[in-house]
Amino acid sequence: MKKLCVIGDPVAHSKSPLLHGTMLRELGLDYVYLFQQVKRGETDAWVERAKAEGFAGFNATMPHKEALVPLMDVLDEDAQMYGSVNTACIKNNRLYGYNTDGRGFLAALADEGISVAGRRVLLLGAGGAAKAVALKLAQRGADRVNVCNRTIWKAEELCKQNPEVLTPADFSPDTLRRLAKESELLVNCSSLGMAGTGGQFENFSFLKALPGSAAVCDLIYHPAETELLRRARLGGHRTMNGLGMLLWQAIFALEHFADVKIDGPAMARRLRGVIEQGR
Ligand code: NAP
Repeated sequence: MKKLCVIGDPVAHSKSPLLHGTMLRELGLDYVYLFQQVKRGETDAWVERAKAEGFAGFNATMPHKEALVPLMDVLDEDAQMYGSVNTACIKNNRLYGYNTDGRGFLAALADEGISVAGRRVLLLGAGGAAKAVALKLAQRGADRVNVCNRTIWKAEELCKQNPEVLTPADFSPDTLRRLAKESELLVNCSSLGMAGTGGQFENFSFLKALPGSAAVCDLIYHPAETELLRRARLGGHRTMNGLGMLLWQAIFALEHFADVKIDGPAMARRLRGVIEQGR
């Protein structure tokens, strides 16, 4: 039986073992999917161990995604673009690095019938998730993506990668209201609203400025409906949480690990049932 796992710190909360375990059973693939706590600064040592112990591949979460980049023999286009690896395959002692976050987000949007091409987007946050989403939206033909972040220099750095589409801005209520007025899609990639330590928006006035036809997405899936999504729904907006992205990035990761083509929409429905109803 081949071995896969997710590495991170913390990692015990990760949904990856549940998602991959379900997919492996459904597809009858002879792999086991584990989790391994690997501390910051120990990424290189982990990679050597994974090779020595015969792992076929692994997913990575905080704090390893960027540290893995220089350790890969081959990087796919998205991992290069984001400077971050969330899926690594080990074949013939060589490491192949991928990043399935941006593709996962796009597939989740497509499931909800939310289009990207030609759209003006208001994107909140400039961390790792924001980078994957912003660069993918730009690559897929968004007309403009305004990247608003509390720490403005991080938004400026991100936007340098595609200045024709990405524009940095601050996170003040005035700026968010002004940019919301002209937006057709709002995506929260900040941790505001996340259960536990995420904190909360101090001011939701930007939602009132958003055109009624604009969709509102939150990358957060715990809670399933953040305060942002609740208010957006009550305001008549179409809403989407982060669960679809989580499911699709796992589906794309398993396609890399096992070199298989998965019926993505059917598997995403199956995994959604497992997460939402525990079946
Ligand atoms: P990250 O790199 O730590 O970035 C966090 C972002 O949130 C930064 O832009 C940060 O701004 C902003 N932020 C945090 N506290 C804030 C506050 N009080 N006011 C304003 N902005 C604040 O985290 P990440 O990996 O990008 O993840 C961001 C969120 O996306 C998390 O909630 C995570 O669960 C979710 N996520 C979901 C998926 C999925 O599959 N659905 C995948 C990845 C991430 P500063 O730069 O100013 O600190």
